[in-house]
Amino acid sequence: MADSLQVPQGFLAAVSDAVGPDHCLSDPDLKASYELDWTRRFGGPAIVVARPADTFEVAKVLAACSRFRVGVVPQGGNTGLVGGSVPRHGEAVLSLSRLNRVLSCDPEEGLIVAEAGTTLAAAQVAAASVRSELGIDIAARDSATLGGMVATNAGGVHVIRYGPMRARLGGVEVVLADGSVASRLSGLVKDNVGYDLAQIMAGSEGTLGVVTKVALHLVAVPLFRVTALVALRGTEHSSANPAAGVASVSKVAVSLALSLRRHVDGIDALELVYADGMALVREALALPAPSDPGADAWLLVEASGGQDPSDMLARAIEDATGVTEIAVADDAAGRARLWAYRERHTEAIATLGVPHKLDVTLPMKNFAEFAGAVSAEVSAALGGSDTRVILFGHVGDGNLHVNLIGPEPEDYRGDDAVFEMVIRRGGSISAEHGVGVAKLGFVSSARSAGDLTVMRRVKNALDPGGILNPGVLLPPVA
Ligand SMILES: Cc1cc2nc3c(=O)[nH]c(=O)nc-3n(C[C@H](O)[C@H](O)[C@H](O)COP(=O)(O)OP(=O)(O)OC[C@H]3O[C@@H](n4cnc5c(N)ncnc54)[C@H](O)[C@@H]3O)c2cc1C
Repeated sequence: MADSLQVPQGFLAAVSDAVGPDHCLSDPDLKASYELDWTRRFGGPAIVVARPADTFEVAKVLAACSRFRVGVVPQGGNTGLVGGSVPRHGEAVLSLSRLNRVLSCDPEEGLIVAEAGTTLAAAQVAAASVRSELGIDIAARDSATLGGMVATNAGGVHVIRYGPMRARLGGVEVVLADGSVASRLSGLVKDNVGYDLAQIMAGSEGTLGVVTKVALHLVAVPLFRVTALVALRGTEHSSANPAAGVASVSKVAVSLALSLRRHVDGIDALELVYADGMALVREALALPAPSDPGADAWLLVEASGGQDPSDMLARAIEDATGVTEIAVADDAAGRARLWAYRERHTEAIATLGVPHKLDVTLPMKNFAEFAGAVSAEVSAALGGSDTRVILFGHVGDGNLHVNLIGPEPEDYRGDDAVFEMVIRRGGSISAEHGVGVAKLGFVSSARSAGDLTVMRRVKNALDPGGILNPGVLLPPVA
């Protein structure tokens, strides 16, 4: 990336003093991996990359950024998909990667406390060592950090059972823009003494403070866990009208998902993939054929509990309309094989080029119609240009990932068409990835004027100099 940034005199020395010269990166080669996001769609040169070792050093970096009025982008695993984790206009990057220690993991209190740069996978290992789980999981677990997951209020595959990151939080430690530290990590379930620091930070995308420690509630490892990959066919099969086919099988999937949610105890996950995404994943990653290779879509179902859910699951699925075949696994390796068809979609899509990743929620009653209509509307918005639209998602909570491959990174016509469709149908333009810079243009349509006023006042109160992730989440005042 071109590096012609104006550096305020004395700023680099102050950062170097804060974190030590080895962790104050100004060499373009050393900075490069921090300057481009996971999708390769967003990024720009950083004035410096600071890699503090602890809360104290984070505070010193933020104090320096405040003093020199330099914008700062907090960065965890850099797996965010909306462009909020990378610099755009020569900000400093504050990487949390060295704050990666698990501090305590107590099954009796049901609480894990870890530094914010701890990866989800590392926290999962710590929880497993005391026969517990976190109740939250995403495919980016090996890189995504707890701090980044708080900042984006990450969702993932277990939201229908345990809620998003916000629901798992037992507390946070945060460094504010001026370098002061606020901490509440007790994990008490009942603790109504004023505003909730952790909840203010959840979903704030690095605009209100830098999370340095995270406390998460634990759940017990269930005695039984079963995963099923359910092949589905819709009633419409016309190559002349693929949209009708997608709408038809989506209707089947939504109906089955709703029925399972109502009638089976302990449903952990309800994930949907379609035939084109399945073909891509199999080809890109050399996976074997799934159950009913000619199906229109597959619903991945997972259930767990103190009793074996297999029979209840089988009864609920076998007689459902549109089900053609079921593959079931209850051992870790077999379950991982079934999950790969769903989890490796993001990776497989990235092999096609730089995707526009649009993560939306629809009311369940509008999900199938939206899924059927979206390709044609995107194509019309892009003047019939050659765009591939690949859908998959967390159908259990109405969350669909719409991936556009073809438009240039800065061409927003397809994105705008999708967001307009979602808003017309009463959905959300951001289900779980946040706003970042990718969805800024639609925040004013997605939030009331009153809502936006509150958000701006909170931002101004906590970050009066506007140094924290400038240009992310809040659109400029018109
Ligand atoms: C393969 C793949 C699968 C994914 N699956 C899911 C999924 O199922 N559900 C889901 O919700 N997301 C998913 N994501 C998106 C991404 O993993 C999440 O948004 C995750 O929470 C980002 O964590 P991170 O540590 O990588 O944060 P980053 O990408 O580094 O940052 C994300 C945002 O958080 C801010 N931030 C980071 N760390 C801190 C901190 N310590 N304090 C304050 N602000 C901070 C950044 O400034 C930025 O705005 C997926 C991504 C990939 C690549």
